[in-house]
Amino acid sequence: MGEIAENIERVREEIARAAAKAGRVTNAVELVAITKTHPAERVREAVDAGQQLFGESRVQEARAKIPELPSVLRWHFVGHLQKNKIRHALPLFELFHSVDSLALAQEMNRIANEEGMHPRLLLEVNVAGEGSKFGFKPATVRTEMESLLALPRLSIEGLMCIPPLAEEAEGSRKYFVQLRELRDALEKEFNLKLPRLSMGMTNDFPVAVEEGATLVRVGTAIFGERSKKQKQKATDEHGFSRISES
Ligand SMILES: *Cc1c(COP(=O)(O)O)cnc(C)c1O
Repeated sequence: MGEIAENIERVREEIARAAAKAGRVTNAVELVAITKTHPAERVREAVDAGQQLFGESRVQEARAKIPELPSVLRWHFVGHLQKNKIRHALPLFELFHSVDSLALAQEMNRIANEEGMHPRLLLEVNVAGEGSKFGFKPATVRTEMESLLALPRLSIEGLMCIPPLAEEAEGSRKYFVQLRELRDALEKEFNLKLPRLSMGMTNDFPVAVEEGATLVRVGTAIFGERSKKQKQKATDEHGFSRISES
């Protein structure tokens, strides 16, 4: 078995173990393999290992990579989406994890209307209130939810977060709990369903699964380290530094 296939198997086992520990069914959790900076032939190894769901964080990179790969694959967008990239992004991705402002949602709605599309999305919440990060403040999601729900083209299916980089996975737990509790509160307050929680990356996905993640976004544990230069690019794109430079 190749290295990527082994990695995927290991990540899937960890997801299953964490789900069992929390009394959840394993198939309530989807593994999104994050392919940013990795070329199509590496992605193909993951496909050969049975992985069909992938995530990208840059529209330009995705536009080049996705057409090189089998069309049966499913792609999620997980990065900061620039307004001028929406039109290109809409047909490529089945779910946008990281809609991080009302203005972006309004622009997506406008362009989706022109294109005759109905994008599905999650709202990115800046759970720790870090100034350097994209995302709704928890209080802002509440005050802007009515306006978000009024956008007829958009299907808002849940919440996503990227907690501050912690030394240990346990350090992320309180943020995952916070995201889940915010979701529960929004469902009550607005009488709606937000079934999806996108949380957990290489360093903390088992904890995220224990706390209710339905989508985990794992890159490094599957494809290995991204190069330093690429890491820097990824950092710039997100407006935060999430990957330790060790
Ligand atoms: C890069 C990235 C990931 C994957 O990070 P790893 O630590 O490599 O697993 C997950 N989510 C987002 C938003 C990313 O940009």
